[in-house]
Amino acid sequence: MEKKQFQAESKRLLEMMVNSIYSQREVFLRELISNSSDAIDKIYYKALTDESLTFDKDSYYIKVIPNKQNRTLTIRDTGIGMTKEELENNLGIIAKSGSLSFKKENEIKDGHDIIGQFGVGFYSAFMVADVVTVISKALGSKEAYKWESEGADGYTITPYEKDTVGTEIILKIKDNTEEENYDEYLEEYRLKTIIKKYSDFIRYPIKMDSKTRKPKEGKEDEFKEVSEEQTINSMVPIWRKNKNELTDEDYEKFYKEKHYGFDKPLKHIHISVDGSIRYNAILFIPENIPFDYYSKEYEKGLELYSNGVLIMNKCADLLPDYFSFVKGMVDSEDLSLNISREMLQHDRQLKLIAKNISKKIKNELQSLMKNEREQYEQFYNSFGRQLKYGVYSDFGTNKETLQELLMFYSSKEKSMVTLDEYVSRMKEDQKYIYYASGESYERIEKLPQTELVADKGYEILYFTEDIDEFAIKMLMSYKEKEFKSVSSGDLGIEEEDVKQSEAEEKEYKELFDSMKEILAGKVSDVRISKRLKSHPVCLSADGEVTIEMEKVLSSMPDNQNVKANKVLEINPNHEVFQSLKQAFAKDKEKLSLYTNLLYNQALLIEGLPISDPVEFTNDICKVMV
Ligand code: ADP
Repeated sequence: MEKKQFQAESKRLLEMMVNSIYSQREVFLRELISNSSDAIDKIYYKALTDESLTFDKDSYYIKVIPNKQNRTLTIRDTGIGMTKEELENNLGIIAKSGSLSFKKENEIKDGHDIIGQFGVGFYSAFMVADVVTVISKALGSKEAYKWESEGADGYTITPYEKDTVGTEIILKIKDNTEEENYDEYLEEYRLKTIIKKYSDFIRYPIKMDSKTRKPKEGKEDEFKEVSEEQTINSMVPIWRKNKNELTDEDYEKFYKEKHYGFDKPLKHIHISVDGSIRYNAILFIPENIPFDYYSKEYEKGLELYSNGVLIMNKCADLLPDYFSFVKGMVDSEDLSLNISREMLQHDRQLKLIAKNISKKIKNELQSLMKNEREQYEQFYNSFGRQLKYGVYSDFGTNKETLQELLMFYSSKEKSMVTLDEYVSRMKEDQKYIYYASGESYERIEKLPQTELVADKGYEILYFTEDIDEFAIKMLMSYKEKEFKSVSSGDLGIEEEDVKQSEAEEKEYKELFDSMKEILAGKVSDVRISKRLKSHPVCLSADGEVTIEMEKVLSSMPDNQNVKANKVLEINPNHEVFQSLKQAFAKDKEKLSLYTNLLYNQALLIEGLPISDPVEFTNDICKVMV
């Protein structure tokens, strides 16, 4: 019979899976049971809304059947089943395609890494089986099919006889090797333990036949072995349980089982609201950024259940964009099962729930910030950018909600500080919240523009992300203190020598006018600097657009050529200033040379490109010879 080939990427994954030295092979059962449970969810939901299907709760179950003689383990479900095409598409192609190309092949060391990163579900069967057979009959189809594979070299699909709708997965368990004992996956007791451990919350009964000893009829002291069907899992969904009965481990298990993420959640939030709105929810704040988080492919949303039945995988309306990293589920009795996606958007209950959830998430994050700072910083490191986007987007509608959650690196503390912390220790004479932007903390530290502010003993917040200044511009102020860039024209610092420099400015007006002419089109003004202490020059910006913003905007695809109003500031106390004065008096060519050099230096310090680097180096040579 003709063998079909797996898609190249799936094949590589399969090979790795088969050969992996994975310590937790037992999770294959969790993966297969979760798939079965999802398949039953689908048919269960259909039956509730489709009157042509009869609905009988007892007919939905998963059965696990070990057979030592044949060395097979069967997982049977009464789920929605798969058509021939679905067998081909769902099992022949890895669902999360692109996951491998994302992680470079050489970074993947073993199966643990693969599962750890992407959770490959069905394929994990090959960790314990030589041959995997899937027999399935889809709801509404007359034919059933058998899919079979011995691993990476392909699979076959053939017609098969099956009376009932559902899927049966038969694993031909591997022979024991020196390192690995596979027999255990045929042991009733071991299988029960695995089911209890990973799949206790599954909503449908997971059944197994169990041998028990029973007294023979009429004879109290003689026993016989009988086989009885038992349900192994407790079936109470975790969100219906009392918080006090649950451990962190239980939540982690749920997170893994649900494939919310492949890391450990940083924090969980268990909500039970029973008032004018009623719902249960379990939400998670992940520890790591999902690999596609800052890409277009990422879809936010929570699982939505109506009284225990899944009605939507990713209900986006439950989460605002700024909390899009939150994973989890919501179950409410107040939602209709038959509700359509379009209607959901306008559902009043859903809106109320969403609002309530946002509030809870914010509170949780705030308490994390207050009580577990290290964890909060870890969170902020991953998702702080999203919060800042939240401040900026929607015309700042959510800035009040989010400003308390922001943190920035502080020049004084050398660590992340909140705006509240900053404002609470501002000096008495300090008018503004100062910030400086740059590529890295190290570079900002060296910015000449910070000199005066730092000299006054004021704390400076360091902005290293594109979004920072935009978010801050949207906030405008915090607790009535305005934000001020250290590069802005007016720093709001009263210096004693201001008058003096005004006098100087007059005296040197002619000099600066000439320099302005030399730099025509590049800067709008040349001035005496009030902020420089030891550096000879710097750039500052007049007006709304700062130099950092110009950089960000010019790197955007729809670059509108927005430019900052640049001002070249000269330090009159620097020796270079004397050279400028002399050149102005005696040698106009030299003045032009010095002016251009100083301007280019200022650009370099700002991290801005020099328009003609060759000319710049030639100019340096001229000074040297
Ligand atoms: P995932 O479950 O993450 O989508 P899997 O590789 O585990 O990835 O499964 C791929 C797909 O195969 C599933 O999404 C589902 O459509 C289908 N599938 C797997 N097992 C079953 C089953 N027991 N019944 C019906 N469909 C199934």
